[in-house]
Amino acid sequence: MKGRLTEISDLPSLRKDILLTLYELLFKHFGPQNWWPAETPFEMIVGAILTQCTSWSNVEKAIDRLKSAGKLSLEALLETDYEEIEELIKPSGYFRQKAVKLKNFVNYIAVEWDGDLEAFLDQELETLRKALLNINGIGPETADSIILYAANKPIFVVDRYTYRCVYRHGWFDGPFHYGRLQSFFMETLEASVSLYQEYHALFVQLGKYYCRTKPRCLECPVGKFIKPRRTL
Ligand code: SF4
Repeated sequence: MKGRLTEISDLPSLRKDILLTLYELLFKHFGPQNWWPAETPFEMIVGAILTQCTSWSNVEKAIDRLKSAGKLSLEALLETDYEEIEELIKPSGYFRQKAVKLKNFVNYIAVEWDGDLEAFLDQELETLRKALLNINGIGPETADSIILYAANKPIFVVDRYTYRCVYRHGWFDGPFHYGRLQSFFMETLEASVSLYQEYHALFVQLGKYYCRTKPRCLECPVGKFIKPRRTL
């Protein structure tokens, strides 16, 4: 294990040490996550939209229902009306808003890209990000998840779980801010699709099992080696 993990440091090399050590601890404890759990890029994108504000187990139920109904494709969703989509994705919650978001996405790919999802995902990273953020209903976390896991391009996805951990350890200051938190990781770590994919998945595991609203520091694989400095 490299570096001493006691202080916030502006030294890029120490920050890198800290983040790589954290990664190693999480990887050793949870093992490879091999995210995203989806068979195709389209299924991944549907999952990324449905997972907003709900647990993954609810998303799985909704995806299974779409699959069983033969609706888990761009073409099928284009031809399906809102009410039917709402019914199928009900287990994921906020189903009316999410049906609109799914339709916005497939309509955009159909109209602007002639239905060619592969070509859309093949764009240069920044152009792709701008295009995703322009689709009504797709925010930064969803856009970046799509870029990282469906387009396989190196962008770091952050969320509340990520924030809790780095804030509680004193490595990141201030309130949650998506862009600042993302820069904190991307300016420190090398741009690597496999590292970013695993790291985000490991943060999700950490947040689910240990770094919860009420943290379980004594049992946590990080807390055994590095003491947190503050609570949220
Ligand atoms: S030690 Fe505590 S604060 Fe640190 S990651 Fe684990 S649960 Fe979160």
